[in-house]
Amino acid sequence: MTKKQYVILDRDGTIIKDVVHITKISDIEFLPHAIEGLTMMQEMGFELIIITNQAVIARKMCTYDDVVAFNEELLKHLESHGVKISATYFCPHHPEFTGECICRKPKIGMVKVAAKDFGFLPSQTIFIGDKDSDTQFGKNYGGKTILVDNGQYTTAIPADFKVKNLEQVAEILKNSSTKVM
Ligand SMILES: [Mg+2]
Ligand SMILES: [Zn+2]
Repeated sequence: MTKKQYVILDRDGTIIKDVVHITKISDIEFLPHAIEGLTMMQEMGFELIIITNQAVIARKMCTYDDVVAFNEELLKHLESHGVKISATYFCPHHPEFTGECICRKPKIGMVKVAAKDFGFLPSQTIFIGDKDSDTQFGKNYGGKTILVDNGQYTTAIPADFKVKNLEQVAEILKNSSTKVM
């Protein structure tokens, strides 16, 4: 039995549709195959964690509490489908509005907090996201990276794998589970 693996998931454009500035609970719209993929990963024993940049707070488009409430609602939706997210971390900053911070992806501040909370090492992590900042985030921390290319953003940083949705992510994890990705 190998050590537990942690899937570090981006939120917008990875699990739910990225409508660019997500602020309201009514903006929650799951991407195709997202719930199926998360279910498969959970069944394979991966621990699921969400780490997301939420500069909408720095932009004053919504409050910190709004994002907390949004994430709670999202987790409730997922739980109703049997998917349990172990924790959610977000960065409320943006350099233009609040100055530099240590947590905005691709900086690794948030995953370091998660590593402390859960006691994992870089070798136990797989980073999933739809932007270069997500791939760079995973590389900066020293984990494996999978890019979910839903067609919304152009990317240049090569991830270890590139797929179209979270179900395809789960397929990759299933096929590489024997050689411990
Ligand atoms: Mg995203
Ligand atoms: Zn931050």
